Formats: sequence, C-alpha cells, structure tokens
Amino acid sequence: MYEILDKKPKIKDGDKEFKIKDGLIEFKNVSFSYNGSDYVLKDINLKIGRGINAIVGPSGAGKSTLINILLRFYEPQKGEIFIDGEDIFLFSDTILENLKFANPSANIDEIRIACEKAKILDFIEGLPDKFNTKIGERGLKISGGERQRLSIARAILKDAPILILDEATSQLDSLTENAIKEFLLENENKKTIIVIAHRLSTINIADKIILIEDGKIIGEGTHKELYENYEIYKELYNSQFIKV
Ligand code: ATP
Repeated sequence: MYEILDKKPKIKDGDKEFKIKDGLIEFKNVSFSYNGSDYVLKDINLKIGRGINAIVGPSGAGKSTLINILLRFYEPQKGEIFIDGEDIFLFSDTILENLKFANPSANIDEIRIACEKAKILDFIEGLPDKFNTKIGERGLKISGGERQRLSIARAILKDAPILILDEATSQLDSLTENAIKEFLLENENKKTIIVIAHRLSTINIADKIILIEDGKIIGEGTHKELYENYEIYKELYNSQFIKV
C-alpha cells in the first residue's frame, strides 16, 4: 500500500487548471498501452458533446480504459485529448461533508432537494445521526447502491457540465437505476454525459452510442443505426436483453 501511496503521479504537475465551458470532449489519434507494448486503445478519434453518450463493446474492449485516460489516471502514449475530468469518490467523513464537497456554498434545503432527487433522502433521514452520520472506513458501511445514489446527489449539487458514469458490472438495484435514468434524462440537454454501458441498461435513452471492439472505435450512431449495421452490436444487445 505504501508503494502505491508513495508513487509519483505520471501526469505532470503545473498543468493549468482548466475551466470546462461547453463540455465538448475530443480524442485525437489517441493510442494507449498499460505496459508500453500492447496497445489497448488504438488510434481513437472521437468527439463527444452534449447529450447522453453510451460507450459499448465486448468485455475487455477498452471502455473503462477510455475513461481512465479521460480522467487522466494515465497519460496516452500517442495523441491528445482536449478536456479534463473530475473524480467523484466518497471519502471518510459525514454524509453532509461528502455532499458539501461538491458545492461548499449549498444550503441544507438545496442539499435535501438533491438527496430527494437522488432517492437517498429517506435513507439519510432514517439514520440516527441523519446528515451527520459518518461513512467510510471509520463510519457506517453503506451499500453499493447507497454510494451510487450519494454520488448522484453530489453530481446534482455540483451541477458540472460533464458527467461520467461507469455503469456497474453488477446488478444495480432498481431504486438506483431509476434515480440515474431520471437524472440523465433531466440533464441531457444541459450536460455532456458519458455512460460506460457494461450492461446496456442505459442504451435505450442514449442519444449517441460509441461501439468499441479490441481497442478501436468501430461504429457510432443511434441504437437503430448500430443494430441494423453491426452484427457485433446486435449480438451484444440481444444477449444482454435475454439475460435481463
Ligand atoms: P469490461 O466491460 O469487461 O469492464 P472494458 O471494455 O471496460 O471491459 P478495459 O477494462 O478498458 O475493458 O480493458 C481493456 C484491456 O486492457 C483488457 O485487455 C484489460 O485486460 C487491459 N487492462 C485494463 N486495466 C489494466 C491495467 N491496469 N493494467 C494492465 N492491463 C489492463
């Protein structure tokens, strides 16, 4: 663990702070390899703008890697990305502090409204210490769904122009899934939203779907266009929906 904590970030310091305005993301000739030899992403050219954009592809195609690079966890060996990202991890403190982190000037009414929209308010109010309950390492262990809904409440409070959601590989509970869908639909005209659709549950509401296979973008379009033109998409879609 110390080895990891002591690691120097690969991304250079001194990069200017970047203010996102339009939320337009552009990958230009981006190639990336984790080990320096086998390329996981190969010459990616992609523009993503406002609306719900889903990234789809078989397991191991490079969906999460694409997002890791966008969030600057790693630097691509080739090409450029014209944007910046923000992580949304929860930390060990009270629920209130975790929410205020997204927007320090938010008042309790705004926080309550955000929690209600994220369908987490009832859960919080049911806790003995309510908003002052500590979560994380030394506090209350909350479930995956509760974490996700708290992250949604944070995203609502933050009102950031770009939102990135890595859809969990495990089953989302229906409360969380509904909270996510409602939030996405409410914001699709205002924000650039990227969803890594491991399970394709968000596909039906996506404006644009980006299909990746073996590190390459092989198709872009609506569900109908991809379904009609790409056998691999058709297979993925059908297999997912048989399981649901
Ligand atoms: P899934 O839907 O299964 O989550 P994915 O499309 O998100 O898959 P990635 O996680 O981006 O795929 O993985 C792309 C490739 O990169 C895979 O071959 C994977 O084994 C490899 N890979 C992912 N993370 C690392 C890492 N930290 N170090 C080395 N190789 C990695």
